[in-house]
Amino acid sequence: MSDDANKASTADRALLAAASLASKTWPIAAKIFPEGPDIDTNQSLWAAQTSDYKVGEPLRGTITCDLAIIGGGFTGTSTAYHFSRRYPEKKVVLLEAKSLANGASGRNGGMMLNWVTGMTDHSPEATQRVYQTTSAGIQMILDIIKRHDLKVSHRVDGTLTFYTDPKRAEDAHKECEEHNAIGIPSQFIDSATLAKQLNAKGVYGAVLDPGSGQINGAQLVRGLRPVLVEQGVEIYENTPVLKIQEGSTITLTTPQGEVRAKAIVLGTNGYTTRLGYFRDALFPLHSHVFATAPLTAEQRAQLGLNAYAGYSDDLDRISYSTITNEGNIVFGGGSNQSYAYLFNNRTAYPGTPYSASSSFNAMQKTMYDYLPASKRLSIQYRWTGTLGITLKRNNLMGVRGDNRNVFYAIGYCGHGVTLANISGQVLTDMYSGDDEKWRKLPFYHATYGRIPPEPFRWFGYQMFTKLTGKSPRL
Ligand SMILES: Cc1cc2nc3c(=O)[nH]c(=O)nc-3n(C[C@H](O)[C@H](O)[C@H](O)COP(=O)(O)OP(=O)(O)OC[C@H]3O[C@@H](n4cnc5c(N)ncnc54)[C@H](O)[C@@H]3O)c2cc1C
Repeated sequence: MSDDANKASTADRALLAAASLASKTWPIAAKIFPEGPDIDTNQSLWAAQTSDYKVGEPLRGTITCDLAIIGGGFTGTSTAYHFSRRYPEKKVVLLEAKSLANGASGRNGGMMLNWVTGMTDHSPEATQRVYQTTSAGIQMILDIIKRHDLKVSHRVDGTLTFYTDPKRAEDAHKECEEHNAIGIPSQFIDSATLAKQLNAKGVYGAVLDPGSGQINGAQLVRGLRPVLVEQGVEIYENTPVLKIQEGSTITLTTPQGEVRAKAIVLGTNGYTTRLGYFRDALFPLHSHVFATAPLTAEQRAQLGLNAYAGYSDDLDRISYSTITNEGNIVFGGGSNQSYAYLFNNRTAYPGTPYSASSSFNAMQKTMYDYLPASKRLSIQYRWTGTLGITLKRNNLMGVRGDNRNVFYAIGYCGHGVTLANISGQVLTDMYSGDDEKWRKLPFYHATYGRIPPEPFRWFGYQMFTKLTGKSPRL
């Protein structure tokens, strides 16, 4: 291990120990630093491709229901979809603060991936179980698109993980062979072969997951609205939940109304702490993304961007990129400046930079370093989205509360496209008590590392990024 790595891990350990100590001040800090709704609007390429979408009406008055879902992203719509199919007789209500797909689901990098982050059990059984679950999840998304004839731009021609260090590439090659031995179809591509397909610099090898791909999440979530309405779900947009009062009947307060529900779902991922839940479990991390104008066929050929849906790299301040069917390159991360934690879990990014800035310039430089020919491309969209990050990078799905009627699926880190779409199946099975098949998965009622309250949290993040020079890997 290099001196730098030693220094980083000592710093990591010291910060974790300090975090655990500072966590003891939660009862006081929670009162000093209250949170409330804080949501900006989606300015992504994905949202722009749903320009005919009309935001629905807010809730006015008092209503009752069996299940109230808070949040209209993948988690919210997936739960509404699966629950209302299983229980057509039950009344389901979905409350969204702004518009469907306003959050991360409509602002992400578009990578529809296998695997979950924060896995600790790497036995062949656990590895197979996770891979089979996520690849079935991808297939389920494709089935829904087909079943309801949704106009959702997507492709499933594989994504790559770039290895930027020879030793890590060698390890990845070995892991690939282990995966192949248990029936997982990952493929290692050496740098010479990769160079013929994709002209990427500084890459010592890549792993292809042929079953993964890319999807426009805004088109999926917004496209599902009429399907959900048809299935009897009542959807209210521009309806932020301001307060949750638990009980055997839960009361949700909104600006112009109230919902009395027998059970609720927290489908608010990075925004969840603003409702007073999981404040010690996750923190919102802002990630910048940009998209180029559509490439011409010639530009695509020059870059070698025809073979796969996208790539991410093996670095802490992870770069991730996809290419849409329409030819836009979408690129996120790739620089410490492209990630930010804002004091007291702020989830709206103030003065979101829609024009060039030092953060976006640093990200563009990373893209150019990988793909020098991309330097001449013009940037058409820039936006920021809120991820929900847990300390151990594991996402959490479960049910809580004295009445066991507060369901949640949160903390997906950078892997929510597939997982949040699976969450509706998991939570519906949990509700019905028939959830055996999910019990051995890492997210099922998972525990989490405790994150300290403010002001330790903000200082901790600054110290971590400054001391180690890293961004939290997603
Ligand atoms: C920039 C970025 C890039 C990413 N890239 C990828 C990727 O390439 N691949 C991948 O797998 N994952 C990626 N992710 C993660 C993935 O997008 C998310 O994990 C996933 O979309 C989470 O879905 P969700 O429905 O749980 O949350 P969200 O999509 O964030 O939805 C939560 C919704 O709740 C609403 N809400 C919040 N508070 C309230 C309230 N009080 N009342 C009512 N509504 C409320 C919000 O407006 C929002 O619409 C990325 C995330 C970001 C931000």
